[in-house]
Amino acid sequence: DPVLALEGVTKTYNKGKPNAVEVLRGVSCTVARGEVVALVAPSGAGKSTLLHIAGLLDTPDAGSVRIGGDDMVGLSDRRRTIVRRNDVGFVYQFHHLLPEFSALENIVLPQLARGVPRSEARLRALDLMARVGVEDRAGHRPATMSGGEQQRVAFCRALANGPRLLLADEPTGNLDPETSDTVFDTLMDLVRATGLSCLIATHNMALAARMDRVLRMDTGTLSDG
Ligand code: ADP
Ligand code: ADP
Repeated sequence: DPVLALEGVTKTYNKGKPNAVEVLRGVSCTVARGEVVALVAPSGAGKSTLLHIAGLLDTPDAGSVRIGGDDMVGLSDRRRTIVRRNDVGFVYQFHHLLPEFSALENIVLPQLARGVPRSEARLRALDLMARVGVEDRAGHRPATMSGGEQQRVAFCRALANGPRLLLADEPTGNLDPETSDTVFDTLMDLVRATGLSCLIATHNMALAARMDRVLRMDTGTLSDG
């Protein structure tokens, strides 16, 4: 089974109202185990909506969402929350780290929520930080770190619970081009080393070309290439 499979997914915001917006018009796609897929779309095309549905943060009006072969659409909210916490990692354009906590704590907290003992969570956090080269920032709060460092910590947080699927929305979009390249390299090294499957939305064609496959999104539909 693919790690992620969407079939005929549709979504309209404000359905039935004068301000209805039909965002997804029957979207189908898969991400195989270990595959890194680029999602390239103009602004407003619906990529955030698609990523939210794939990550169980939102539900489609119709169509199926499967993670690891299991149907997600019929699951209870409680089961969806468990899948989201254990199997899916998210990275956004802005890091969304908790400002009052250290970098290390930001990576420890999601593990505590899953019931991992603190000592084990700390070790895993430090290992992830070392892999992306920010282990010396463990005690720093996000505001005292550079944009590139903040994103590296956000990658560690996304991987903290060992997800099967990483969903990323412009993960290097707020960095200057040079930093964006090196931070993207770091993310790819981490992803390849862990065999993680990824769907990564980007406007950056050079980055998209370095992924395994490119999906283009336009007016609510997807195509290869
Ligand atoms: P993208 O990430 O490609 O920029 P989005 O998925 O964020 O696109 O949004 C697609 C369209 O749906 C846009 O026109 C946006 O304004 C609209 N939209 C997104 N979320 C909502 C919402 N919660 N309610 C109403 N409209 C929304
Ligand atoms: P991104 O930068 O990732 O595309 P957006 O700025 O499009 O994010 O959207 C941020 C949040 O606001 C999302 O959760 C999206 O669902 C919501 N949103 C986007 N457009 C609208 C809208 N027109 N009405 C209500 N909510 C919206």
